[in-house]
Amino acid sequence: GAQREVRWHDKRVTGSIDFVIQPIKKEIMAYQSTNPYNGKVLQKFDEINDAALEEKLSQASHCFENEWRAKSFAERSAVLARAAAILRERPQEFAELITLEMGKLLPQSLGEVALSAAILDYYAEHAEAFLAPEKIATPRGEAMVESSPIGVLFGVEPWNYPYYQIARFAAPNLMAGNVVMVKHASSVPQCALAWERLMLEAGAPAGAYTNLFISKDQVAKVIDDVRIRAVALTGSEAAGAVVAARAGQNLKKTTMELGGSGAFIVLDDADLDKAVKHAVSGRMSNSGQACTASKRFIVVESMADGFLEKFQAALENFKPGDPMDKQTTLAPLSSAEALKNLLGQVDEAVAGGARVLMGGQRIEGQEGAFMQPTVLADIDKGNPAYRQEFFGPVAMFFRVADEDAAVALANDSPFGLGGSVFTQDIERGKRVARRIDTGMVFINSGASSSPELPFGGVKNSGYGRELSGAGIQEFVNKKLIRVS
Ligand code: NAP
Repeated sequence: GAQREVRWHDKRVTGSIDFVIQPIKKEIMAYQSTNPYNGKVLQKFDEINDAALEEKLSQASHCFENEWRAKSFAERSAVLARAAAILRERPQEFAELITLEMGKLLPQSLGEVALSAAILDYYAEHAEAFLAPEKIATPRGEAMVESSPIGVLFGVEPWNYPYYQIARFAAPNLMAGNVVMVKHASSVPQCALAWERLMLEAGAPAGAYTNLFISKDQVAKVIDDVRIRAVALTGSEAAGAVVAARAGQNLKKTTMELGGSGAFIVLDDADLDKAVKHAVSGRMSNSGQACTASKRFIVVESMADGFLEKFQAALENFKPGDPMDKQTTLAPLSSAEALKNLLGQVDEAVAGGARVLMGGQRIEGQEGAFMQPTVLADIDKGNPAYRQEFFGPVAMFFRVADEDAAVALANDSPFGLGGSVFTQDIERGKRVARRIDTGMVFINSGASSSPELPFGGVKNSGYGRELSGAGIQEFVNKKLIRVS
């Protein structure tokens, strides 16, 4: 769908590089909450001006230098644990904002709030051990490696899990002694502010966590700013390419958590009912708007008809409605624009030869951005859909001869984020998992996330890891100290 253009002008004479960013959403540059269930505009927020941005950068830098970096793990941990406790004391208040701004079913919003609290607690508890100094055996006297914070970090985050995405970035880095500034997606400004208030209420000093309502041009300014030491982005490949390039020009390290088109492989010895159950939740959770969602269903011939029949039957049962209502099982997409883009991708797939087995249309009679659960088949290599990510309830179905063909198809993708393998032979599942070129593979389940499990991808899905012990090591200085 979306088209973004990046242009470079290499001015070799001066040695400087002029970098032009063309945002796609020019018409809605302001930060705006719109309820995707009924199209109602809830709140708008202006972007801050450059003087206000400078104040925030200066405050963050001051906070790092004079306050946060000097705090003990116990002091930082108290702030994060308090933030987790607040999320658990008032889950409804936080969850409803997610549902209002991006349409997630309320029970799933409550789940996201609980997961965000768990991430805060996880790093509050384990950060000190993860970053403990390491002695190195060397014949040259005494040597050790200490992990020290590097400074102010900048994060660019997406709307699909408005708190969880921030928790993944902020919790480990704050515990490491860095301070963070976040440009959240322009469609979830109330969630963005709620998290900033949460951190202050939990006792974080001003400048430890800073929300930035800034333009794309200002994003570039922030990346260029000498006080910013590294950049993390979660979002699309297009945004990742722009932000990583800019950071690269400044020799700043980045982590990139980008799109995915997870293969969901069903082998001949799979438990079919289990596979179907996970296929449905893997494709439909968050209305299909998850980077790790199962998107390509690759089923061996002997299981294909049975799988399709049960999968489609289950997808027929989804009931669209108000995502605040606990009876609703199908939420709207995050915005009218998201629906338009997805419908466009389906049309393009069909024009390229795909067959619609079910769905394929917007749901009539609903005001909101509702997409029918959709299954596409007969997608051959020449079809643009073959290499695309469908960010919504659209499943691509592929029939293959055997395990080898399934692995080959799974790996024939520009993405490398997640994937699943269904088999009752766990050793076989592990062998297949080792052959899949992604950052995460799940045997007998769809993708899921937990604070202690590393999260991230390879290929166009990005690089670096969030969560787990790995997630706290990305932006620390591994400093060698040697005594002769
Ligand atoms: P997006 O358009 O790339 O937006 C993500 C963030 O990047 C937003 O804050 C957005 O700001 C900003 N952004 C976009 N273009 C930019 C530019 N040219 N310069 C600076 N900032 C820019 O992605 P999305 O459509 O919201 O999210 C869906 C994508 O994210 C999917 O591809 C999904 O797979 C991926 N995702 C990946 C992970 C992961 O962990 N791997 C997790 C979740 C989502 P505005 O809102 O102001 O445009």
